Amino acid sequence: MALISCTECGQQISDKAAVCPRCGSPASTSSNPLGDAVIQLEKALFDEVQKFSTRIRESASSARRPSPPSPDIPDQIRKLAKLKDDGIISSEEFEAKKTELLGKL
Ligand SMILES: [Zn+2]
Repeated sequence: MALISCTECGQQISDKAAVCPRCGSPASTSSNPLGDAVIQLEKALFDEVQKFSTRIRESASSARRPSPPSPDIPDQIRKLAKLKDDGIISSEEFEAKKTELLGKL
């Protein structure tokens, strides 16, 4: 069995040892910088995909969002009637607007 130097403390340890018995750091044979880089890359890619799918879902839900409910037409007519009573609009204006609003019902 071969001996390797611990990357952390320089202790001679067995290359079969998973961790350094002296400092507990992972033995150099088990560390894989390229593998770590790939994992980092995959994580970054995963985050991007997550963000992208969230954007897709958001835009899809906003596209499906129903148009705002139509205003309460009887309530509008009531307000118009009050405007007429207050002399703010004429009877003709009230009747014209009322006809227009009733046409939307
Ligand atoms: Zn060590």
